[in-house]
Amino acid sequence: MNFHIMTLFPDMINNGLSESITGRAMDKGIININTINIRDFAGNKYGHVDDYTYGGGAGMLMQAEPIYKAYESLIDGFCGGDLTKKPRVVYMTPQGTPFNQAMAEEFAKEEDLVLLCGHYEGIDERVLELIVTDNVSIGDFVLTGGELPAMMIVDAVSRLVPGVLGSDESALYESFYDGLLEYPQYTRPEVFMDMKVPDVLLSGHHKNIADWRYEKSLERTKERRPDLYEKYIKEHEEEYIKFMKRKKR
Ligand code: SAM
Repeated sequence: MNFHIMTLFPDMINNGLSESITGRAMDKGIININTINIRDFAGNKYGHVDDYTYGGGAGMLMQAEPIYKAYESLIDGFCGGDLTKKPRVVYMTPQGTPFNQAMAEEFAKEEDLVLLCGHYEGIDERVLELIVTDNVSIGDFVLTGGELPAMMIVDAVSRLVPGVLGSDESALYESFYDGLLEYPQYTRPEVFMDMKVPDVLLSGHHKNIADWRYEKSLERTKERRPDLYEKYIKEHEEEYIKFMKRKKR
């Protein structure tokens, strides 16, 4: 999968993603990170890409033209300049739809995903109207730039691309996969500071282990994310009732 990231700070992206699992996936060619430095399209010898906002107000705004030119160069690269074959362009913005696992799964189906990072006060609305297909936020707070949000999205999407994680199973049973948070996990030693790993996990009884994990997932989701719990129970009522009946017996 190819991530094309339009940014004023390509080093931030490259340095941040070249380590660990995403770094290894890049080395293996499973994912490709293509950073496009918007400043290279400044069109002036000073490399200025921002200006004051019309109507007044504090702060500078990223100008439309350098971003549009950067976008055109990108399209030249992988759509042969055909602007009718518009790729998915995701603008990182606190005004966007909150990012979640379902969105990560949807993005992971794309072969090419373009991520646009704003800075300063943001970006001239006109270029956003022209090129953006999705507005995505990583939460109700304001950051200085879109680079960290873009890196988060690349990370979350990459781990769903086949071959990126060591075993394809790893992404299957994690929090949010089926609408519940993950159950508690333990590794060696069996006893740590007088705290023992639950006996059932040492029993080797697969059915009991699965039941214990399901129950803990339910408990944890109910306690920490009642919104998700309610939704899960509504959508999996039959499975939940069956489980509770079996538990009582
Ligand atoms: N003036 C903008 C507003 O009120 O919506 C905020 C601009 S912010 C200081 C600069 C850039 O950081 C944005 O263009 C966006 O790319 C990025 N950014 C900030 N907070 C973000 C968030 N919660 N999610 C995604 N991107 C964010």
